[in-house]
Amino acid sequence: MSNAVTQSILVVGGGMSGLSAAIEAAEAGHEVYLVEKNPYLGGRVAQLHQYFPKLCPPYCGLEINFRRIKANPKIRFYTMAEVTGISGEAGNFDVSIQMNPRYVDEKCTGCNKCAEACTLEIDNPFNYGMDKIKAAYLPHDMAFPLRYVLDPSLVGSDEAQKVKDSCPYNAIDLTMEAKTVDLKVGAVVWASGWKPYDAEKMETLGFPRNQNVITNVMMERLAAWNGPTQGKILRPSDGKAPETVAFVQCAGSRDQNNLAFCSTICCMASMKQATYVREQYPDAKVYIFYIDIRAMDRLEDFYTTVKKDSNIQFFKGKVAKIDEDPATKNVTLRVEDTTAGSLHEITVDMAVLATGMQPNTSDDPIPASVSYDDYGFAASMEAKPGVFAAGCTRTPSGVSESVQDGTAAALKAIQAIARR
Ligand SMILES: Cc1cc2nc3c(=O)[nH]c(=O)nc-3n(C[C@H](O)[C@H](O)[C@H](O)COP(=O)(O)OP(=O)(O)OC[C@H]3O[C@@H](n4cnc5c(N)ncnc54)[C@H](O)[C@@H]3O)c2cc1C
Repeated sequence: MSNAVTQSILVVGGGMSGLSAAIEAAEAGHEVYLVEKNPYLGGRVAQLHQYFPKLCPPYCGLEINFRRIKANPKIRFYTMAEVTGISGEAGNFDVSIQMNPRYVDEKCTGCNKCAEACTLEIDNPFNYGMDKIKAAYLPHDMAFPLRYVLDPSLVGSDEAQKVKDSCPYNAIDLTMEAKTVDLKVGAVVWASGWKPYDAEKMETLGFPRNQNVITNVMMERLAAWNGPTQGKILRPSDGKAPETVAFVQCAGSRDQNNLAFCSTICCMASMKQATYVREQYPDAKVYIFYIDIRAMDRLEDFYTTVKKDSNIQFFKGKVAKIDEDPATKNVTLRVEDTTAGSLHEITVDMAVLATGMQPNTSDDPIPASVSYDDYGFAASMEAKPGVFAAGCTRTPSGVSESVQDGTAAALKAIQAIARR
């Protein structure tokens, strides 16, 4: 083996696919650098209330992964960090990582004194802006690492010094600046995941103009115990318990003007969210408007179970328009029954847009010469020799496929190093 070959592996993205790649590669004996843009690990899964089809809390699975990371000295992870450059070749890449300032160091114990001292508030990114948090904050109750963050708007403000002085452990450093770290790695796994397709682009569906039209990712937060309503599903306009809820499938998906592909998980996500509504409100009625239901292989069982609930009605039809009544704030959906060719109107308390998953690489590409498909997904797992795409960077997928994909990418990265 040549001395120039570097055995370490860079994993970008700390969601389910990146965590899996990092842990599997480290447990196979490789040094791993895990780079995550957010101030915490876990990716979008940390923001889910429950997993389909078992309806268990995602934190069980994440906790197991975090324990494996804590137990393995071969993994070094960097939060609030991004890769700015990759050069070289398989077996011997030079990478540059930009570490963005958190303004709080490892002495933080999570005591919350800084948040108590802070009056400045910001939109809560973890809850998709549905509530406010202090500008000195823990990203969410189960955050790993358990360490506070100061928003840059606080650092430049009059109360920054007061917040710094409130810390009993001297963990706040207002002078922290972005810095660059250069590393040598033998292979790269890129797992930067997805973002929700921008619902504002479907003008006729009225988001966010209609207050009681929300998106599926917002519904996950509304149902979550640590969400903006402490887990109570309430309609945003007046905090009323909804008696009728409509789910709008393929909101922008399989549409040449928006996301032309199927994200594969939205039907399952809406059926899961229908169970959230029904569990909280035994008399509530739920409508699911769909083009066709995508519940592949064993997920069919979950579909069959949900269909047995007579308060959940599946309606084969495309929602063309949603309008809100200015007095009641109820929303009326105009639906085309695609089988009969007839038009229908239905009024409900709130509507949930099942928007699809857009790859983050579509507007934040891998800083290396790799090719993408028409939608911004990496064209193949081996994006270029020694650089491997995993999870939703490669294709829209659910959690179990993302875990498998991360594991496969780790093996490919190990092989790329072994071949040099
Ligand atoms: C409404 C909804 C509900 C869902 N419910 C379920 C469910 O119940 N069961 C299920 O199996 N699946 C579900 N899914 C799908 C699930 O969210 C995905 O399978 C999972 O998030 C994919 O993991 P990932 O690691 O590929 O991506 P992500 O979870 O997006 O993780 C990617 C990580 O990379 C980070 N990142 C992004 N860019 C950079 C960068 N440039 N540098 C460093 N880090 C970066 C991100 O901050 C993030 O932490 C749901 C999806 C939706 C839309």
